[in-house]
Amino acid sequence: MDFSAVLNNIHKQIQPLLGQGKVADYIPALAEVDKKQFGMAITLNTGECYGIGDYQHPFSVQSISKVFSFTLALRAYRQALYTRVGREPSGDPFNSLVQLEYEQGIPRNPFINAGAIVVCDSLISHFRDHKYNAQKETLHFIRECSNDDTINFDNNVFTSEMQHGYLNIALANLMKSFGNLNNDVDEVITTYFQQCSVVMNCQQLSRAMLYLAYHGRDPITGREFISGSQAKRINSLMLTCGHYDASGDFAFSVGIPGKSGVGGGIVAVIPGKMAIAVYSPALNKNGNSLAGTKALELFTTMTGLSIF
Ligand code: GLN
Repeated sequence: MDFSAVLNNIHKQIQPLLGQGKVADYIPALAEVDKKQFGMAITLNTGECYGIGDYQHPFSVQSISKVFSFTLALRAYRQALYTRVGREPSGDPFNSLVQLEYEQGIPRNPFINAGAIVVCDSLISHFRDHKYNAQKETLHFIRECSNDDTINFDNNVFTSEMQHGYLNIALANLMKSFGNLNNDVDEVITTYFQQCSVVMNCQQLSRAMLYLAYHGRDPITGREFISGSQAKRINSLMLTCGHYDASGDFAFSVGIPGKSGVGGGIVAVIPGKMAIAVYSPALNKNGNSLAGTKALELFTTMTGLSIF
């Protein structure tokens, strides 16, 4: 298949959408980006990468980091993790407090903020027991998946979110009051905001997600990050919960597992074939990249590559 032609075609078709939607200005550092940017990259199991537009432009991965932290926590705790975080779609916005109160501090899934905060808490405990630091290990893992040691945190975005993260701090306090956080709220929130601040581009992200397209094993280096059955679970959760209260709509229109972030990125996996990343910072009302979602829909429609 001529992937360059497909990406070119998508780039043309999404032009009228660029600039529609709103950047995530509740994190002031993210409000500064040019909202008309668009980039898309796919990486195949041979390592071949096809990209278009701003596919090498670095951006804040935000909630896409939840895929990496969940992978680490699943590897460490296996089934036991599900006593603290569920695996059902929430049907609520990514930072909603409401459900968390009546479900007694157990978040619906690891891809909403509350779930990712519990995952961070579990990683702090796990790595401390092994004399490691959760923030460093999460970054290290992201570098391993991408096979790229240059990836880093963005201190500007981290500080900006620390100063304005009222809702996330409220979520963490609520869960602490229900006994679902074992570490200090400050430490957990710091770890969570650090992982959200990681900066990557579409090329790096599509490379990093390949392990999920190949049963947990990086097809290029041969390294096994998680078991095939765990990779299946992560893909399933990306399909059902990767886009918050728009997860059903994403599954309906795109038809592959994906995970979005308020930085404007979306990663998606086509099992046994490739991983994809798209970036366009203007978001729809659910906090998912507006042009990015459309680009992925066009991709699966034009290529016939969906899981269904
Ligand atoms: N750091 C963001 C937050 O916690 C991540 C949310 C997102 O990407 N949807 O609000």
